[in-house]
Amino acid sequence: MKRWNFVRTPLAAVLAVGLTALAPAAAAGEHPAGGLPPAPALEALERAAEAFREHTDVAFAAAPAGEVGGACRATGLQRWSAEATADWTGLDRAVLGAAAATMLPAYEVMYGLHPALGSPQEPVLPGARPAPEHQRIWRKLAGFWGAEPGGTALLSLDGSMLTDPERTSRVYRDVFGMRAADADALAEYVAAYVDQERFDHGDHPAFTNVTFAHRFSDEIAAGTGRRSVVAVGEGSAAALRDLGHEHAVDVLLAHEYAHLVGWRMDGSVRGDVRGDELAADALSAYFLSHPHGMAWQWQKLRGRFTVYGELGDCAAGAPWHHGTPAQREAAAMWGYRQQEASRPRSLVLAPQQVVAEFLAKP
Ligand SMILES: [Zn+2]
Repeated sequence: MKRWNFVRTPLAAVLAVGLTALAPAAAAGEHPAGGLPPAPALEALERAAEAFREHTDVAFAAAPAGEVGGACRATGLQRWSAEATADWTGLDRAVLGAAAATMLPAYEVMYGLHPALGSPQEPVLPGARPAPEHQRIWRKLAGFWGAEPGGTALLSLDGSMLTDPERTSRVYRDVFGMRAADADALAEYVAAYVDQERFDHGDHPAFTNVTFAHRFSDEIAAGTGRRSVVAVGEGSAAALRDLGHEHAVDVLLAHEYAHLVGWRMDGSVRGDVRGDELAADALSAYFLSHPHGMAWQWQKLRGRFTVYGELGDCAAGAPWHHGTPAQREAAAMWGYRQQEASRPRSLVLAPQQVVAEFLAKP
């Protein structure tokens, strides 16, 4: 579901790496970055590691695995990520990894803790900043595929929570089960750490280079009054914009909405990540090119659809594999051709039919 590449790696492993790197600095009683509060006591971090270890259902975003074969090359997005964080030091990576910093904004949303989720039921959350053009395509999607039963929130994901220790601490406590004192200490430390120039004072796009649709657990749905959420990372949007994909957010929204449609059908389309992702690509392209959808004509869409390739990865065999760049572009083109072949042109096929034909194709 996520454009991020999720690897189900216990956070404890990540934390252990962080602890190792942090230890010399903490032991020396100083921090190379300077001006920071003292690092949380290693003992507190070890307790956090223990809490994380208990928390097995945590997905960690990692750089795509290096299983790049001759036919599958690193995407522009992967190169962008490497360049955007090129000035981060090894210690930065260890600290931010140990603190799960690049996951916190997404977890705050997935666990219903984002402050905008407490606001009255609006599909687009006040203060959540989706641009007007994104709200327009959102309404189109709801009209085309039908609104989500139970309601879906749309929000734009920024890194502001990272410099807000209250919000960060809550995620540490509620998601990772950390003790309040440890969570508070780590949250204060993270807020000070990311408030440096090379992290854009917490607003670095790498912190929000994730876009996802997420179905809340029953308990969280009851609390938020919504069944699901779609969050567009400002980092994702910025990265794709930098790469020249002007209409990337349209594609991202159409893709994430297709996941909502898939879940409505039968929980998941096919039960494996790659199958679900490619089916969502096909459905989204069907919508983007359909006269009653965004009505993108061939002249426009053939350039815009290259963004699907950016969302692929070369980690075939990994449980989080989303399809290779070539497979994702091919799935989108299939959706476009399916739409083109339908008569009358005004006909909107049921998503079940589109997906069934997609899965049945040779
Ligand atoms: Zn997806």
